[in-house]
Amino acid sequence: MPTPIEKHLSQLRACRLCPKMHRPVVVGRPVASRALLVGQAPGDKEPVLGRPFAWTAGKTLFKWFNSVLGWTEDETRDRVYFAAVCRCFPGKNPAGGDRVPDEGEIENCSRWLERELEILRPELIIPVGKLAIGRFLPEAPLTEVIGQSFTWRHSGREIDVIPLPHPSGASPWHRIEPGITLLRRALKRIAVHPAMRVPPVASGT
Ligand code: SF4
Repeated sequence: MPTPIEKHLSQLRACRLCPKMHRPVVVGRPVASRALLVGQAPGDKEPVLGRPFAWTAGKTLFKWFNSVLGWTEDETRDRVYFAAVCRCFPGKNPAGGDRVPDEGEIENCSRWLERELEILRPELIIPVGKLAIGRFLPEAPLTEVIGQSFTWRHSGREIDVIPLPHPSGASPWHRIEPGITLLRRALKRIAVHPAMRVPPVASGT
């Protein structure tokens, strides 16, 4: 008998809502975690390797978690539920880089995130990168949000939001001050959050 989150992921894998998006849908592990990480959208390597944050940005992201929690990549994937603003690779921009998902695609994919919020009832959301941060917080420079903890009210619940910058090599923000200090502060906040300190729990729905 599949768990609610396993059932959810199999429905998500079958999604065909956005005609411009590339298949397959990229999903993480079916962990019933109270900590939900929300990325932007997969790149071209993730659909091939079959998991989110599978390439260079992922290496940096897992190094960050390891630096404050001591967890390996595998342990992190087993303890944090990986979601994203869009779950499919949007394709390349003719001008270079990955295409940013459009409003319609973000709206389409938000239904999956909504379902995850219902099933998992997270206590902590970690949005990674500007597109994901904008899903939970008003627009602001990274220097004003990284290193801070916010409260996001959703369906009568209060959920902590601790944003991270995008770990992509394309942006030097997290490698130069004040990014280095603010990133460290954010990671320390995440490491002591109760949602990261308890083993994943079975979802109740
Ligand atoms: S981006 Fe999201 S909504 Fe669009 S096809 Fe992929 S999974 Fe479905």
